[in-house]
Amino acid sequence: MSYKVITEDKLTSARLGELSTPHGVVRTPAFMPVATKGTVKTVSVDELKELGTEAIIANALHLHIRPGENVIAELGGLHKFMLWDRVIFTDSGGFQMIRKNFNIKRSEEGLMFRDFFNGSKRTFTPEMCMDIQKALGSDVAMLLDDCPVHDSTPKKLRESTEQTVRWAKRGLEHGRALGIPNLFAIVQGGVDSELRRWCTDRLEEFDPDGYGIGGLSIGESKADMNQVLKESVDYLPKHKVRYLMGVGSVAEMLEAISLGVDVFDSAFPTQCARHGTIFTCAGRYNLRGTRDERDARPLDEGCTCPTCKHYTRAYINHLLREKEMLGMRLASLHNLHFLLNLVEESKKAIAAGAFAEFKAELLNAMVKKTT
Ligand SMILES: [Zn+2]
Repeated sequence: MSYKVITEDKLTSARLGELSTPHGVVRTPAFMPVATKGTVKTVSVDELKELGTEAIIANALHLHIRPGENVIAELGGLHKFMLWDRVIFTDSGGFQMIRKNFNIKRSEEGLMFRDFFNGSKRTFTPEMCMDIQKALGSDVAMLLDDCPVHDSTPKKLRESTEQTVRWAKRGLEHGRALGIPNLFAIVQGGVDSELRRWCTDRLEEFDPDGYGIGGLSIGESKADMNQVLKESVDYLPKHKVRYLMGVGSVAEMLEAISLGVDVFDSAFPTQCARHGTIFTCAGRYNLRGTRDERDARPLDEGCTCPTCKHYTRAYINHLLREKEMLGMRLASLHNLHFLLNLVEESKKAIAAGAFAEFKAELLNAMVKKTT
């Protein structure tokens, strides 16, 4: 078994665990910076290591389109290609289905979409999705899912959930035959608890190595998301990893950890950083403005990240207003450090059996002006 639970919190369902992969162990709860195209935007792999990153997530569909998995395989696989010798998760590309610029259609066979570079028609099947992730050398591969939009009709929601299950079965059989080390299935079902429960039951029959919780934080209300997340996590088997896909706001992560979620990924901290939005213990603030132009403090007082050790708020503010890349990089390093540090502190709190107090204190400090 590739995952084991080490400790459980006293009052909440939070837990410490270890996921073993060919490129090392991921200690959970864990946050993964997003490297869609084989890079975490503006940040080098040495910097990611310095921040304590144990795993990143790249995207199979994007790398398939450019530069192509064969190019990457010829050059020794994605680890060697991008000089990252720690753990790589790869997402399947199913989520892209709800991104309109891909213009994706679904058939029983797989996804059909137009290549956004040359306009040609392409098909993307659950088996191809595994072939690509195998060629990339992924440590944890996600099975192709059919992610519905949040306002799907009940009929469409059921159809895409059933499609997700059929594709998971095909993908898992193929991925096992290829010898991919960890295969995670993605639970869908929108905000319909019964449908999510049905989906989990069916996926469990195929015995994947872990579960992605997909299709949340895509436009539904916060109340709906929290309710469905709680029910979804409660229903998943305890001895497998639970990965909440695409969630990277502090309040949502803390809530999810308390429910027993183990792994997160999100492009949110780096996207925010490039637009001058800075994560701090007192909430988020936007750096772009005359307010900060003479401020000699670091981005967040008390922060130990490489940016806050050396640079002032005034300088980074200036760089971002001038659209200088260094500004985006320094802000990205800080925001990534903030979330990586959040999961580290969460681990300590769980080990001490005190996650509930830790969560309450942090949320109180965030003065309700942010998420
Ligand atoms: Zn910092």
